[in-house]
Amino acid sequence: MTSDASDIDRDITANFEEIRARIDKAAKKWERNPGDIDLIAVSKRQPDAAVEAALRLGHRQFGENRVQEAQEKWPDFRAQYPNVELRLIGPLQTNKAKDAVALFDIIETVDRPKLARILAKEMASADRSLPVYIQVNTGKESQKAGVFPEDADAFIAECRERLGLDVVGLMCIPPLEEQPAPHFALLAKIAARNGLSRLSMGMSADFETAVQFGATSVRVGTALFGSRSDT
Ligand SMILES: *Cc1c(COP(=O)(O)O)cnc(C)c1O
Repeated sequence: MTSDASDIDRDITANFEEIRARIDKAAKKWERNPGDIDLIAVSKRQPDAAVEAALRLGHRQFGENRVQEAQEKWPDFRAQYPNVELRLIGPLQTNKAKDAVALFDIIETVDRPKLARILAKEMASADRSLPVYIQVNTGKESQKAGVFPEDADAFIAECRERLGLDVVGLMCIPPLEEQPAPHFALLAKIAARNGLSRLSMGMSADFETAVQFGATSVRVGTALFGSRSDT
């Protein structure tokens, strides 16, 4: 049996209220301003009905991890709901850079010189200078994207100074099997020494810890929308 829109609205509203309340509580505990922390709803592989419920409720900040999937749903959503802010939070292939620049408002996963160069070129030709985050592979995992911590300062400088990218912050995904706190602390330290104020860190399982260590945006999927489809 499929549930109707009012059931979904009720569930999604309750989830958003709960997660927002937990962010605000963590912020107060660590003497931070709750208003300094954005909740990015990760809508990848979630049913359109659930995402629409979030839009109806007034939520406007979303994250997607694949360009093609985002292209399939967001133009329609945007046509109906104004002022959506869409963030790319997944790995970006250089052959998708042009599409990503056209579709997203913020790109959080700049992680290598070739991608940075192509993004700078595509932004110039589209006359669209998007804020970007540099993804740092804090756990130095071979399968994970991101610049290594020891290479971050030079890469940030290259992106800003040589390529003129609008670098606003750093993003990380800690290793699954480790405590996230040291990874969040490391990301905050790299950001501070580079004069970057934005930190994208924390997911469903660890966003309160991320708030403790200075997250300015948390990326929450399953805790808001439920488990994802596999495809
Ligand atoms: C999927 C994803 C999330 C959300 O993960 P949840 O555990 O569902 O909250 C956050 N960040 C990135 C980069 C993701 O790919």
